[in-house]
Amino acid sequence: MPTTTPDLSSLPDKHGHFGPYGGRFVPETLMTALLELEREYASARQDPSFRSELAYLLHDFVGRPTPLYFAERLTSKLGGAKIYLKREDLLHTGAHKINNAIGQILLARRMGKRRIIAETGAGQHGVATATVAARFGFECCIYMGAVDMERQALNVARMRFLGAKVVGVTAGQATLKEAINEAMRDWVTNVRDTHYILGSALGAHPYPMIVRDFHRVIGDEARQQILQREERLPDHLIACVGGGSNAIGLFYAFLKDEGVRMTGVEAGGGGIIRGQHAARFQGGKLGVLQGTKTWLLADNDGQIELTHSVSAGLDYAAIGPEHSFLRDAGRVDYSYATDEEALSAFHVLSCTEGIIPALESAHAIAEVIKVAPTMELDQIIIANLSGRGDKDVHQVMELESLKS
Ligand SMILES: *Cc1c(COP(=O)(O)O)cnc(C)c1O
Repeated sequence: MPTTTPDLSSLPDKHGHFGPYGGRFVPETLMTALLELEREYASARQDPSFRSELAYLLHDFVGRPTPLYFAERLTSKLGGAKIYLKREDLLHTGAHKINNAIGQILLARRMGKRRIIAETGAGQHGVATATVAARFGFECCIYMGAVDMERQALNVARMRFLGAKVVGVTAGQATLKEAINEAMRDWVTNVRDTHYILGSALGAHPYPMIVRDFHRVIGDEARQQILQREERLPDHLIACVGGGSNAIGLFYAFLKDEGVRMTGVEAGGGGIIRGQHAARFQGGKLGVLQGTKTWLLADNDGQIELTHSVSAGLDYAAIGPEHSFLRDAGRVDYSYATDEEALSAFHVLSCTEGIIPALESAHAIAEVIKVAPTMELDQIIIANLSGRGDKDVHQVMELESLKS
């Protein structure tokens, strides 16, 4: 590679910047905790005992490595590129989120913090966090919007069975953004004995870096698996993007492979109309939300706009700062799938492969359905199947009985 090509995988810099994005926009009271986390992580990643315990837990508790599965019937149905699915849906608790939760609880223990807090939208990150807290015997408190608690009653019950306290947040839209505000407020107050396990590649430095690093195992495995299976790299990677953790987890190992295209799929909701979607790169702008500078959906006064997606895990006004950077660099393309396209992909994958995907992951499958037929038969797509659809069964039933 010519020396002028920036090394896209060397970021963030020591202040947490991905080019003009990222950074640390937090109240003074949280600076100490963020600096402590940064220090602890730097020492943990060099520590063989930390690495071996993490590897052990990922293998025996979480269920790694996940298969890279050749979706043979979907491939022949679409009539183009060969489609492989990275099966994060098979992990313990049903989604990729536990890769990060297990890594962060090990950091909490190193810092001597035995109280865990987290935010959750659909409840997947809350369940992953409550699970690792139970596994380590730590106290756990999960903040969740009151509206989301109603929509995701099953996950609320799971968290409670796991011994977590679930606190409903009624402010504002009573969804994910408000839950994060409340978790930050708790953290400011209890920072001495409490670690905040943030659930996506978002927030103030060092979170976007730490969360990415705990998920990069997805792409590291996939790269090795495809080389073994096909003796070549894939042509195209596809993943859905809420905050962006499963996507960066898949993409990171391939950033230097110039022949590998990558597409992140945002939530197009009811279409690209203000307030009806969560596609930050469609009509969004640069701003600061919850500790980081990045692309987000706001009006001309900087007020965060309402968002909508059929999939709670993608329904957030800001995108992780590294994605903003990779888009500017032209390394990753970002598209979107509407609610309707995602629902249709949900059924297509269920019926052709016998795999019911999470509605989030169905956005990635919707993109596969669009691009695979335009590709050659000997080309290869890897799509990240970030989670399973059990949590969404009830919602899809309701949506479809409304329609009929
Ligand atoms: C939370 C979630 C997402 C979205 O989060 P990212 O940080 O963008 O990965 C995607 N898929 C599933 C199954 C989720 O639970």
